[in-house]
Amino acid sequence: MRVAVLSDVHGNLIALEAVLAAAGQVDAVWHLGDTVGYGPDPNGVVRRLREIGAIGVRGNHDAAAVGGSEIEWFNPDARRAMEWTREALAPDAREWLERLPERRIEAGVELVHGSLRQPIWEYVTTTSTAAANIGLLTTHLGLHGHTHVPVAWLELDDQVQLLRRGPGSDLTLDGRRALVNPGSVGQPRDGDPTASYLLLDPEAERMEWRRVAYDIGAVQEAMRTAKLPSFLVNRLASGT
Ligand code: ZN
Repeated sequence: MRVAVLSDVHGNLIALEAVLAAAGQVDAVWHLGDTVGYGPDPNGVVRRLREIGAIGVRGNHDAAAVGGSEIEWFNPDARRAMEWTREALAPDAREWLERLPERRIEAGVELVHGSLRQPIWEYVTTTSTAAANIGLLTTHLGLHGHTHVPVAWLELDDQVQLLRRGPGSDLTLDGRRALVNPGSVGQPRDGDPTASYLLLDPEAERMEWRRVAYDIGAVQEAMRTAKLPSFLVNRLASGT
């Protein structure tokens, strides 16, 4: 089984299309939330994900977009973009977002946006946080997003090791446990502005991180037209 794992698409349809084209033939597309927010095309992203039968979980931006109080925790730029997203969201997209669960298990893999203990909000950025969440796994592999940085947190001899994952990096679990982040499709923050995603074979517990370039300028133009905050427009080009 070949699965494309996407996270944090953030209303960036051009990046999503580039990833789907580059991933090629897959048996399933899984997403790890934050499908909307920040970017200029929330309805386009939701419709495309629905069209291809993508399954996934709810992120903090998805929750805020359908009226959740999560918006109270956003910084001013994120909040402005979220208010725009709420206005822009079509009823069918809203309905799809409302149905996203916080956590799900697919083919023996756990899917969450933030972490297992706090699916919506927790950022897994330290080995102690990763270890606590690996301890909550009911399977070998957990997939999470939220930080927009492609990494693996791998359990080795009762310790957790952080593996930074550049393009073409791979990992086979061989029965070990791990939390794995595919990076962000629509707003990478690891210094590389290209869209990040993961190709996964759940049965073999094998995965590979991939990057693909997309037309960042076209997305920035659409964001300017929508009068989205310039900080959010500019960060797409630097990937930070
Ligand atoms: Zn996000």
